[in-house]
Order: sequence, then C-alpha cells, then structure tokens
Amino acid sequence: MQISVIKIIESTTVDGPGLRTTIYSAGCEHHCKGCHNPQSWNINYGTMMDVDEVAKRVLATGEDVTFSGGDPLFQIDAFTKLASIIKEKSNRSIWCYTGYKFEQLIEKDKSLELLKNIDVLVDGRFIEELKRKDILFRGSSNQRLIDVQKSLEKGEIVTYQPINLLSPLLTKFKINA
Ligand code: SF4
Repeated sequence: MQISVIKIIESTTVDGPGLRTTIYSAGCEHHCKGCHNPQSWNINYGTMMDVDEVAKRVLATGEDVTFSGGDPLFQIDAFTKLASIIKEKSNRSIWCYTGYKFEQLIEKDKSLELLKNIDVLVDGRFIEELKRKDILFRGSSNQRLIDVQKSLEKGEIVTYQPINLLSPLLTKFKINA
C-alpha cells in the first residue's frame, strides 16, 4: 500500500510533547481559510512511498510519532495500516491532526479502526477568526486535544491536558507565549 508524503521531519517539538517524528501527508478536502499550507490540499503534491517503508523509517528514529498534513484522514487506509504497524512493533505514542471532528469519526467503522491506534487526536478545521498563538499544539481555539483511548472507553470526550513547563516562568516574568 502506498501513501503520499510531503515530508518526514524528525525531532520536531511543535506537533505534540517531546521529540517526535512527524509525517506530513498530502491531500485535504477542508480548504480552511488561512490554511498555512494550501499546496498540501493536492494529493499529487506529495511523493508516493510504501507504507512499510515509512513505518520502518519512523520506527528507526526511536521517537514518538505525529500524523499531520494536509489531512491524514484523506488517506485513511494508508494511515490505518501505518498506525497499526507502529503499534504492533513499538509502544510509541501516535498523535493525529485532522480537520474532521471526533464525533464525525466515531460514526464510521473505517475511521474508528484508525482511532483504535491513535493516542491523541487534534481535531477540527482551522478557523482563522479563532487563531491563537498561546495554545499548545493547535492553530485555533476550536481545535481540541482529545485523549482518544479514554474517550472511546468512557463514551464521551476526554481532553488531553498538555503540560506547559514554561508557563510558570512566562507568568512570573509576564512574557506572552
Ligand atoms: S485541515 Fe489543515 S491542511 Fe486542511 S485546509 Fe484546514 S488547515 Fe489546511
């Protein structure tokens, strides 16, 4: 199975906690106003790679993993397979960004299958009017960090609370993040 990849960045700190390897995939149908990377909407913007090859590369880094885009859900079959290989062969945490909302995804068997192997979902379209620079790992305030496994277990949305180690210092010195 193939996956259209724009780039794979190792040791990034902006797509979730700690050092992560992020796979930026091509293809997105949300077309949000103010999107930071409109080129990524086109599936042909990426390079076709074998899912097993991407998994091998990601596992070799020893880092946790983030699926970003574009929208990874645009290539749901490939990302479902990738997530399942990563979880089968490691205990890496997987974060996934998507323009869809969690409530939409749990309605469909296909996306539910992917969610079974996702730790944190950053959901919702980017809304320019709600753009914020002071919230961790998100572009606009409507987007949520969802603890997927706890949410599936409880049958209600449980948000993931990131630890901002800098915030006490920022408050002390009155610096805006
Ligand atoms: S979901 Fe993300 S990649 Fe897609 S249009 Fe919105 S901001 Fe851009």
